[in-house]
Amino acid sequence: MQNIIYINHKRYLTLWMLFILTSSQLMADTTTEVKKEPWQLAAETEVWSPVPAPVTTPINGAPSDAIVLFDGKNLNQWQGAEGNAARWKVKNGALTIVPNTGSIKTKNSFCDVQLHVEWMMPTKISDHDGKILEGQARNNSGIFLQEQYEVQVLDSYQNKTYANGQAGSIYKQSIPLVNASRAPGQWQTYDIIFSAPLFDAVEKLIKPARITVLHNGVLIQNNFEIEGSTTWIGKPAYKAHGCAPLLLQDHGDAVSFRNIWIRKL
Ligand code: MG
Repeated sequence: MQNIIYINHKRYLTLWMLFILTSSQLMADTTTEVKKEPWQLAAETEVWSPVPAPVTTPINGAPSDAIVLFDGKNLNQWQGAEGNAARWKVKNGALTIVPNTGSIKTKNSFCDVQLHVEWMMPTKISDHDGKILEGQARNNSGIFLQEQYEVQVLDSYQNKTYANGQAGSIYKQSIPLVNASRAPGQWQTYDIIFSAPLFDAVEKLIKPARITVLHNGVLIQNNFEIEGSTTWIGKPAYKAHGCAPLLLQDHGDAVSFRNIWIRKL
């Protein structure tokens, strides 16, 4: 009798455990079966921080977080390339090279930057004897990032020269993708994104510089890997340096500049 009761009890227990197992399985199934609404699924990939800082962008003006290097009034941000006073001429909101007074550079140093520069070629394209200036001689200047890496400034409107030396070239290193030059006497723009090179403790290059350039809004250099400091003769090579000034080249021609601003990246 006791045995029968025991067996029944055992059976009862087994059944009960089976019931628990099945119902928990069912419960688990119903949990996974809860369908999310599309907005809930969409929310799973939304990222709400960090929040980008607001920047105001006036038409034809510098963004609110830019450092204005030339606002048409003075040369307060500039000095001569040798640390002397800058001697270029400020007139009617423009900065014009006084030929052979020397290149100028910013008083501050920069590393990774976004740079905006407007420049204009003189309409005079002949020398004192009336001979038409050609090639590199037709109103040459340059924008040197970190005093080393030149984005060529030249009158390349209907003026042939070596392609890796025309306006918008990374001088002697990279030909611009197209020639977006405007005629002399018209303002032109460069928008430049520059990543500075990195050197290790023993001055070995660990990351080359990179540069993207838009000329009058047109992409002409697309993330080009710079090969070293700009050189007129021979192959470019890197020499270690830290953050450094922006330099505008005096190549002996009265090229004008305006609206120069820079953003540290
Ligand atoms: Mg030049």
